[in-house]
Amino acid sequence: MKAHDGMYIGGEWRPATGADTIAVVNPVDEQVIAHVPAGTAADVDAAVRAARAALPGWSATPPAERAALIGALRDVLVARKDEIAETVTAELGSPLPFSQMVHAGVPIAVAGSYAELAASYDFEAKIGNSTVLLEPVGVVGAITPWNYPLHQIVAKVAPALAAGCTVVLKPAEDTPLVAQLFAEAAHEAGVPAGVFNLVTGLGPVAGQALAEHEGVDLVSFTGSTAVGKQIGATAGAAIKPVALELGGKSANVILPSADLAKAVNVGVANVMSNSGQTCSAWTRMLVHADRYDEAVELAAAAAAKYGERIGPVVNAKQQARVRGYIEKGVAEGARVVVGGPESPYEKGYFITPTVFADVRPDMTIAQEEIFGPVLSILKYADEDEALAIANGTVYGLAGAVWAGDEAEAVAFARRMDTGQVDINGGRFNPQAPFGGYKQSGVGRELGPHGLGEYLQTKSLQF
Ligand code: NAD
Repeated sequence: MKAHDGMYIGGEWRPATGADTIAVVNPVDEQVIAHVPAGTAADVDAAVRAARAALPGWSATPPAERAALIGALRDVLVARKDEIAETVTAELGSPLPFSQMVHAGVPIAVAGSYAELAASYDFEAKIGNSTVLLEPVGVVGAITPWNYPLHQIVAKVAPALAAGCTVVLKPAEDTPLVAQLFAEAAHEAGVPAGVFNLVTGLGPVAGQALAEHEGVDLVSFTGSTAVGKQIGATAGAAIKPVALELGGKSANVILPSADLAKAVNVGVANVMSNSGQTCSAWTRMLVHADRYDEAVELAAAAAAKYGERIGPVVNAKQQARVRGYIEKGVAEGARVVVGGPESPYEKGYFITPTVFADVRPDMTIAQEEIFGPVLSILKYADEDEALAIANGTVYGLAGAVWAGDEAEAVAFARRMDTGQVDINGGRFNPQAPFGGYKQSGVGRELGPHGLGEYLQTKSLQF
């Protein structure tokens, strides 16, 4: 596939300072499809300088003009939608229709929502005898993962630009091609030089250099909790704000009055989607003891149908990691209802959709994020036990509640320690705040809450 051999810095593709490259591998057939440069601290430094130089001009650009540029960027993404989908399919391995609908469709929706929000947002408010100004935080260092590669870029870059910040992006090493495509789109849309910059590279090299750079005012990170803790500690030592979107182990709570078949089918689809590589996936299904066996049967039938339809996981390391969790589940006494650790194909990083029954809340597979197509079904005796299980992990990113009566589901959702809950299969809302309680993160993305992360507050008294 087509790839740039340099970094997008200061409005142009510049040669990388080092000679090292990163191979991009198609997870379906394990073939190398491209190489991108592995950025060094010097590349990161050049990008941060470009972003800082562009900051005064961009932060002073009227919000309506910033909104128009984000709108133009959205239009370029729309025009290049098929190319986006093909690129994500090539580097992430997701089936093309899913890439079109989700990996291209969602970021387009998010960019559109920020084009509107930037135009209408109140960057000034009156409180008594004060005028409160909401000002851009400054230069943003954005570090993104590979599971929804363009969505996670747009969910940071669009609100940052709307706020008047400038950005240096370090995308995941597994999915750099769609990040390069995004840089091309920003250029084509007319985003001024230095407002958006891209440095591809390895996490512990380019990522760490960006997180530690003195010229970065805020780091926005999405990825593993382990790296998030490190980035949070670095930011804390420098008294810098940080936004962290980390892992999850979300509960899908099916109350006794729920439409069981619907709740189970939607629940299985939620977990298998994107081959289970979704931080907000409902990986723990909680079912009342009286309906447990029926739910396990329904889930097994639903998961078996996904066998041919889901793509691989992103790389060999993730495949080994997910298999390790499946083996651990078996070793700890959970019962495999469908699937298992064996790969269905000889080539590619595939994992068979797997459903575990008889999972106890203290098992590893019920506590740790697996990040593969693996569902654990747990049994509860009453609502209090369901709540204790739902809230009984270090995470709190998302979740679902199903009940015959919406008010009953809402009452349960209010007691959950988690950042987002879907009631009876509520639809995705690209403007609703997304982010975690507990170790799932700090801060929110999307909509006005996401924009607020990139603003700081000044008050003038009269
Ligand atoms: P990761 O946290 O290592 O990678 C995420 C991003 O951080 C990448 O861009 C990476 O290059 C960068 N990074 C890595 N080390 C860094 C460092 N020391 N300093 C700065 N940046 C650094 O995640 P991973 O290894 O790709 O995946 C491992 C696990 O993380 C997954 O199995 C899953 O559980 C979790 N994960 C969660 C999400 C999410 O959306 N919450 C996304 C991807 C992965």
